[in-house]
Amino acid sequence: MRLRLDGDALVANWHWLATRSAGAACGAAVKADGYGLGAVDVVRRLAAAGCRDFYVATWNEAIALGDLPAGTTLSVLHGVRDEDMHTAVGHPARPTLNTLEQIARWRSTGLRCDVMVDTGMNRLGIAPADVLGGALDGLVIDTLMSHLASADEDVTQNEAQCIAFSALAGRSGAARMSLANSAGICLGELYAFDLTRPGLALYGGIPRGEAEGHIAQVVTPEAQILQRRRVSAGETIGYNATYKAPRDTQVAILNIGYADGYLRGFSGPDGGTSGRAGGSAGSGRFPVLGRVSMDLTAVSVDAQPDLGEGDWVALDYALPQAARISGLSQYELLTGLGERFDRVWG
Ligand SMILES: *Cc1c(COP(=O)(O)O)cnc(C)c1O
Repeated sequence: MRLRLDGDALVANWHWLATRSAGAACGAAVKADGYGLGAVDVVRRLAAAGCRDFYVATWNEAIALGDLPAGTTLSVLHGVRDEDMHTAVGHPARPTLNTLEQIARWRSTGLRCDVMVDTGMNRLGIAPADVLGGALDGLVIDTLMSHLASADEDVTQNEAQCIAFSALAGRSGAARMSLANSAGICLGELYAFDLTRPGLALYGGIPRGEAEGHIAQVVTPEAQILQRRRVSAGETIGYNATYKAPRDTQVAILNIGYADGYLRGFSGPDGGTSGRAGGSAGSGRFPVLGRVSMDLTAVSVDAQPDLGEGDWVALDYALPQAARISGLSQYELLTGLGERFDRVWG
């Protein structure tokens, strides 16, 4: 099986997000192996398009990226634990310091860093009061960051976080300030500050309505037919026989399953009717039948008499729709894509 990755769509999505960033620089979150696409290829393509600021979660992810393209920088969002220090001081990436302990650990190196401030998410970051109280004195700070908790919703928390972050302008010694993720970019110019950090929308996720019609699908899983069979009326398909054929049905068995990230939420619904999850081959569409297995998925190919063993089919993976059908988030749909796919850029 393979993932079709649309390099032009990736770059076009970055350009849209960069334009929406209203004069701020636009970076890219490439943690979790570029949200499952392959971080090395994502960085290379976005750097060629003009992206300069990249983010991973861990030092192992930083190491896995290898040499960075000229002119780009990398920040490690988990910062520096004790056991990271040896790697971190010898690596060109900089840590995003999240706690007073991490700050104490890094200060004596004299090396560049980013700093995360918690403005209300209560995830990572030091308190705004610590910034104002001098906790950052003696650090060489590239970017002061905070992260929005609910930017994909229209809630007052967004404005509250933006105001709390704005109050730190000029108070930290940082060269730049950065608040917005993909959804935050959609909230408007006020949220852009000096630098934005989109992830999801680069890869085709639609975080908010503003992005609809502008962000293009990047990732399409494709699978091959291992067997085509006829299932007679009244017979069942798959584990626990959740699908019972109401009539003689042509079925194709695909070589993809939940171990690939095509999770059981894409199963056809219990009972006789075919599910909304499915795919296409040429102009024809087909639904998933029965339960998705670990490595296999059955689909109805009644309408595709020409499809047979060895043929490739594309699975529906427009992220907002796939999220509604599967009950997974758009983030989970990307980051769960497994190791068995060949990742094929086009
Ligand atoms: C993952 C992450 C991002 C990117 O968020 P998206 O919602 O995927 O755009 C930005 N900033 C931080 C700190 C993150 O952890």
